Amino acid sequence: MSAGLKGKRALVTGASGGLGEHFARLLAREGAQVAIAARRLADCQRVAADLMAAGHEAVAVRLDVSDGASVAVGIDDVIAGLGGIDILVNNAGIADTRAWLDTDEARFDAVLDTNLKGAFLVAKACAGWMRNSGSGGAIVNIASILGIGVSGHVGPYATSKAALIQMTKSMALEWARHGIRVNALCPGYIETDINREFFATEPGKAMIKRIPQRRLGQPSDLDGALLLLAGVAGAYMTGTTIAVDGGHLLAPL
Ligand code: NAD
Repeated sequence: MSAGLKGKRALVTGASGGLGEHFARLLAREGAQVAIAARRLADCQRVAADLMAAGHEAVAVRLDVSDGASVAVGIDDVIAGLGGIDILVNNAGIADTRAWLDTDEARFDAVLDTNLKGAFLVAKACAGWMRNSGSGGAIVNIASILGIGVSGHVGPYATSKAALIQMTKSMALEWARHGIRVNALCPGYIETDINREFFATEPGKAMIKRIPQRRLGQPSDLDGALLLLAGVAGAYMTGTTIAVDGGHLLAPL
């Protein structure tokens, strides 16, 4: 079954690298026009140029999700570049690995401002356009299994992702009448540049052993869930949370 994304206009935040870049490339391969958004424009331009060289339609946009003024300008740029927004992948996020007692106000704010307030600001701006255009749309919030279960030394991160899941349900409830679906995708531990070194260490390997499937996820393991939530197969799904984690949430206590 095709995901039905041909001609759809998709914005992916935090798309200058990691999972965001992977999602942008996936949506482009499925026929969507994509806006590559992140704080570093040059990195976004590199990804967009690569996609255009492969025959896809892409624009690069500077956008800091934690800053309302930057989001307003960035969304205007996306609309000017693509003509509208049908799909938002709210992917930008940061992590912190301190214990609660070592977490200061600035670190707490930084994580919540990016992972929660940022997702709110971008979703609100996109949903406003989707409502006004009458065309509806699909929003996929990239949360985490740490928004469902907990682990040590990720307090603000886990808190932000749990709140993002609740925000997903609340937005889905309010925006269903406008034809806007809002769902959350919760990856388990997915191998990307930022964690590859850690998972090669002994503590990292021990962590992998606690995953029932005994392996890290690869970005491509998320493709099915992302296309389901963004595309036509998920047309009757809203407010849901899908975990893609090799069974990690099932790990015995
Ligand atoms: P990453 O650090 O490689 O990518 C994060 C992206 O977000 C980067 O492009 C970064 O520039 C961007 N970003 C950060 N702050 C931003 C801001 N204020 N405005 C705009 N862009 C900003 O990390 P990743 O592993 O690719 O993670 C992507 C998303 O997936 C995050 O939300 C993360 O919490 C979530 N996630 C990742 C994993 C994993 O194992 N990799 C697991 C669960 C959830």
